[in-house]
Amino acid sequence: MDRREVLAGAAMLSGALLGGEALAQAGRRSTRNFRRIATEEAFATPEFVEACRDIVKAGWNSKDLDFWRGLLFRQNDPRLADLLDLDQQRLATMDRLGIDMQLLSLTSPGVQFFEPMTAATLATTANDHLAEAIRRHPTRYAGLAAFAPQDPKGAVKEMERAINGLKLNGFILNSHTNGEYMDDPKFRPILEAAAALGPIYIHPRPLPDTIDGPYRDMGLWTAMWGFQVETSLHALRILFSGAFDDFPDLKIVLGHMGEGIPYWLYRLDYMYPKMERMFTRKLKKKPSEYVKSNFIITTSGMNDHAALKYCVEVLGPRNVMWAIDYPYQEAEEATTFMNTAPVSNEDKALIFSGNAERVFKIAQS
Ligand code: MN
Repeated sequence: MDRREVLAGAAMLSGALLGGEALAQAGRRSTRNFRRIATEEAFATPEFVEACRDIVKAGWNSKDLDFWRGLLFRQNDPRLADLLDLDQQRLATMDRLGIDMQLLSLTSPGVQFFEPMTAATLATTANDHLAEAIRRHPTRYAGLAAFAPQDPKGAVKEMERAINGLKLNGFILNSHTNGEYMDDPKFRPILEAAAALGPIYIHPRPLPDTIDGPYRDMGLWTAMWGFQVETSLHALRILFSGAFDDFPDLKIVLGHMGEGIPYWLYRLDYMYPKMERMFTRKLKKKPSEYVKSNFIITTSGMNDHAALKYCVEVLGPRNVMWAIDYPYQEAEEATTFMNTAPVSNEDKALIFSGNAERVFKIAQS
């Protein structure tokens, strides 16, 4: 029994002596043993929604917007209001479930499929909007900055402004940009900036058109499977490009329990020496060592105790963070999943908030 449990136990006991209201209070306290920081939580700005509507109306055809088409034009889809809201229902849900803080990021598909100028403007307004929400609710929100990789130089400027000026906590990237991945040499300045400024959370988006043929006709291009194929491919391209040998401080965050990569560590290590000739550079370390030193995963949308136990075992408890994927998945289920997770209280404290505080430089409460 740790100190907090003893305190909660003592509170319960005195509550029993004091009667109903005190008991209820003690019960609330005992469920608040952990600070809870949810790390993959989406929001949208009115400008972003307008820009998506414009591009849909103009007939732009993309799988990225298949989901958004429904969300933007279906009457009364509550998720649109939930994405735009940073002051009402979102905070009420957090209060109800004992969620102390959300680490916010501009919703997928983000800015990367817009024209470069539009993308840069949307990223800037989203980052300003986010910083204002954090100023209004400094103990409830932290945030990841959007940037437009289409113009790497401009992206680096916005990344610097977001961290040094707006005091945001890292970056959000919705996987590929026009079919190109961060291992491309033209994106090196972005990786270099991130190594100095803060982690990049690589969030899923649909596979590029050039790859997705056999995923398309069965709906497998979606969050059900294809998003994970796309995002893990992106992560592995960065790893095998040798980026972590050039930038040992570069941290990449992956949602959805690591997008399948933790399950594949043995095979990456076993196969890499046999396939080494197919890569342009020889890595200094085993693939699994980079996964453990340069990646941190979150539980977003994967409320599965067996998968969590496995990831904590193979990656270590310092490499796993809690997330909901609000408002796309249920906040209550994700919170109950972690409240009841079969890990030690010490590990639970790290996963609920300790790791997020360290990785995203969030002040301890
Ligand atoms: Mn998400």
